[in-house]
Amino acid sequence: MDHATPLEQALHAARALVIADLVAGQVADADVVSLVEDSVTHRRWWVEQWPEGVDYLAGLVAQDVQDALLEKYGRWPLCPVCSHGDPHALDVEPELGPDPHWVCAKAGVKVASVGALGPVFGAGG
Ligand SMILES: [Zn+2]
Repeated sequence: MDHATPLEQALHAARALVIADLVAGQVADADVVSLVEDSVTHRRWWVEQWPEGVDYLAGLVAQDVQDALLEKYGRWPLCPVCSHGDPHALDVEPELGPDPHWVCAKAGVKVASVGALGPVFGAGG
């Protein structure tokens, strides 16, 4: 890591945080990890155009993966706060900012930092 630039370190950290959440939800199979890789590739280009966005990478990669999962697998991560009604996914806040968190928009609560989801957060349709 001696020669890694701050940009590469930030991309690596964002990738690690999102994969940690996928592992916690037991959805980190090879197909899903490749979605993370696709996002990291795209965001490397993005942050090269806009270096000030380096602190926003974790939240953006989390949202990219969430969108890609919704198309292929279903909602992720499922909200653990709302025990009745239709299952719904947590949102990333801020959408574009540092220190991203998973929040339940219905209950208006912060659930966990991106990268800190526990094992109760599965994926579902
Ligand atoms: Zn909820």
